[in-house]
Amino acid sequence: MQICRDLPSLRAATAAFRAAGRRLAVVPTMGALHEGHLALIGAARAAGAGAVAASIFVNPLQFGPNEDLARYPRDEEGDLAKLRAAGCDLAWLPPVEVMYPPGNATVIEVAGPSAGWEGDARPGHFRGVATVCCKLFLQSQAELAAFGEKDWQQLQVVTRMAADLDIPIRILPVPTVREADGLAMSSRNRFLSPQERATAPLLHRAMTEAAAAIGAGAPVAATLEGALARLRGAGFAPDYLALVEAETMRPLAARREQGPMRLIAAARLGTVRLLDNIAV
Ligand code: AMP
Repeated sequence: MQICRDLPSLRAATAAFRAAGRRLAVVPTMGALHEGHLALIGAARAAGAGAVAASIFVNPLQFGPNEDLARYPRDEEGDLAKLRAAGCDLAWLPPVEVMYPPGNATVIEVAGPSAGWEGDARPGHFRGVATVCCKLFLQSQAELAAFGEKDWQQLQVVTRMAADLDIPIRILPVPTVREADGLAMSSRNRFLSPQERATAPLLHRAMTEAAAAIGAGAPVAATLEGALARLRGAGFAPDYLALVEAETMRPLAARREQGPMRLIAAARLGTVRLLDNIAV
C-alpha cells in the first residue's frame, strides 16, 4: 500500500493506476477506522474498482466551533494496518496545510439536501463536507467514490454536488454496517459508557418498528411521537426523528405513494450524538 502525504506523490500514484488501466475508487474517511469504513473498500472493489485509495483527513472545515474536533479519535498506525489488511492500494493522508494552503478562499455550498436536520444542528457542516469531498474527487481523479448510507444526508449532499458540478465520478452508496445488536458502527461509539452502550441499540430498534408501522399505513406523526417518547424514556435526548423524501431530504407529513422514503434520526446519549437512518 502506498502512502501519500503531498499532492505530487498522489498525482504520480493515481496516474500510474490509470496508465495500468486500473479504475480508481476513492473512499473518504476521517480515520478511527472500523468495519463500516472497510466495507466501503470491499464495495468499491465489488463495483469494479481496480485500485482503491482511502483518504484519512479529519476535516476542520466540517466541525463547528463547539464540536468535537479536538477529541476526534486519531490512530494513524492502527488505521494504516487496517487499510493494508483490507487490501487498500493507497492511503492519502494530507496534512491540513496541504488540503487548505494559506490563502485558500473557495468553498462549495450545496443548497437542497443540505437544508434541515444535520444542516440545522451543525451550521456549516455540509459546506465543509462538500468542499473537502470536491477536493478529494479532483485530487484523486477517481472514477468511483464510496460513501456509507450511515450518513444519509451527507450521501445526498455529495451525490447532488457531484451531479451539479459535472464531476465525472460515480457515487456508490454502501449499506450501514451494524453491531450484532443493531447499533450503527461509528468512530464516536467508543465514547459511550457501558450503560449508554447497552441503551444505544434502542435507537435502531425504535426506528425499525416505526418504519414498519409507517410502511403498513400507521399515521406518521403519531408513530414518530410514540418512538420519540420511548427514546426519551430510555435516556436519549433526540434532536430529530423524521420521515423524509430519500433524495431531497424534504420532510414528509404522510407516506409517499411513489419514490423512496427514509426515516432519519439524531439523538444524544450522554455526550455522544448518535445518527441513524433506515429505508421505509
Ligand atoms: P467518517 O470517517 O465517519 O467520516 O466516515 C467515512 C465514511 O464511512 C462515510 O462515507 C461514512 O458514511 C462511512 N461510514 C461510517 N460508518 C459507517 C457504517 N457503520 N456503515 C457504513 N458506512 C459507514
